[in-house]
Amino acid sequence: MEKSIFTRIMEKEIPARVEYEDDQVIVIHDISPKAPVHLLIIPRKPIPTLMDVTDEDLPLIGHIHQVAQKLAQKLELKGFRLVNNCGKEGGQEVFHIHYHFLAGFQE
Ligand code: 5GP
Repeated sequence: MEKSIFTRIMEKEIPARVEYEDDQVIVIHDISPKAPVHLLIIPRKPIPTLMDVTDEDLPLIGHIHQVAQKLAQKLELKGFRLVNNCGKEGGQEVFHIHYHFLAGFQE
C-alpha cells in the first residue's frame, strides 16, 4: 500500500509543525486550519478509517483521548472539539486515521 501523507510526515520526508509525539501518535498543526487551534492527532499505525479499527486497536483509541486531554492542559484550553471524518462520504480526504483537535472558538 502506498504511504499516506501522514506516514511521510512521521518519517520526516515532508515537513510539519509538530506539537507532540510519543511512541503511538504524532500531533501536528493542520496545514489549512479551520479554527484558531487546529491540530491533527495521528496514530503511527496507518489504519485507513475508523471503520477499520479492531479490538486490538481499542487501547490506541483510548490513548488518543488521553493525548487530547494533555493537549488541552498544555495549551491551557477550557474546551475543544475532537472530530473524526470517516470515509469519503464523511468528508475524509487522507486515508490514515486521524482526529481533528479544534479549539479557540469565540465564547
Ligand atoms: P480529513 O479531511 O481527511 O479528515 O482531514 C485531512 C486534513 O489533513 C485536512 O484538514 C488537511 O488540511 C490536512 N492536511 C493535508 N495534507 C497535509 C499536510 O501535508 N500537512 C499538514 N500539516 N496537514 C495536511
